[in-house]
Amino acid sequence: MPVTAPDSSLVDKLVFANRILYDQGVVDGLGHASVRHDTVPDVFLLSCNRAPGLCRRQDIVCYDLDGQAVTETAQRSYLERFIHAEIYRARPDVVAVVHSHSPSVIPFAITQKDLRPVFHMSGFLGEGSARFEIRDAGGNTDMLVSSSYLGQALARSLGGKSCVLMRGHGSTVVGTSLEQAVYRAIYAEINAKLQLAAHGLGPITFLNEEEAQLAAAANDTQIPRSWNLWVQRLGSFDMD
Ligand code: MN
Repeated sequence: MPVTAPDSSLVDKLVFANRILYDQGVVDGLGHASVRHDTVPDVFLLSCNRAPGLCRRQDIVCYDLDGQAVTETAQRSYLERFIHAEIYRARPDVVAVVHSHSPSVIPFAITQKDLRPVFHMSGFLGEGSARFEIRDAGGNTDMLVSSSYLGQALARSLGGKSCVLMRGHGSTVVGTSLEQAVYRAIYAEINAKLQLAAHGLGPITFLNEEEAQLAAAANDTQIPRSWNLWVQRLGSFDMD
C-alpha cells in the first residue's frame, strides 16, 4: 500500500545523518541510521543498500515494521533493516536508530566490562548499556540481525535503554530525535575510546547516576550546536 510521502526536510536530515556518521568515524562502508516517519508512526525511513557516506535523497526508502519497503524502489535493502523495524515496534518512544560497528565499542561488547560515562558528554550511558547475545536467539549465525525474529530478540535485549552492545558485531543506539541518536552514536564511540585509555592508568571514577542524568539533560539542549557544526564540516555535496 502506498504511504504518504515523508516531509522533505526529514529526508534531508537523514541524508545528513548518514554522511555525518561517516565523517565522524562511526560508520564505514557498513552501518546505518533511520528515522521514524513524521506522520505514519509504523513506517520508518532508511537508506537503500549504500555506504552511508554516499547517501543521497533518492536512496531514502520507507519501510514498514516487518522490514518491507513501502515505497517503490529497485534498490537492494540493508540486510539488517530488521534492527530498526523491531526497535520501532517495541519502543513507541524511539524516533531514530543508529546501528554501527564503531571499533572502540567492540571490546565492551565482547567482555563483561560495562560501557559507562567517563565524562558529561556521554551522560546518556548512565543507565548502562544493554547486551545482545545473538547465540541465545539464533545459535551459530553470520552475526547479522537479518530477520524479524532476530530483530525482536535484539529489541528485547535493548529493553528501555538507549544503547545495546552486540557481541562480536557492534552496537545500536536509539534516540527521541535523529540528532540525538547521531549524537549518542558519536559519543558512545568517543566514551569507549576514553574509557579504554583511562583503564590503563588506574581505577576510573565514572559519573554517578544522578550526574549522568543531569549531564544528559543539559547536553540534550546543546545538540543543535554540534549538529550544525557536523553539517558544516560536510561541505557542499550533491544531495540528489
Ligand atoms: Mn551490523
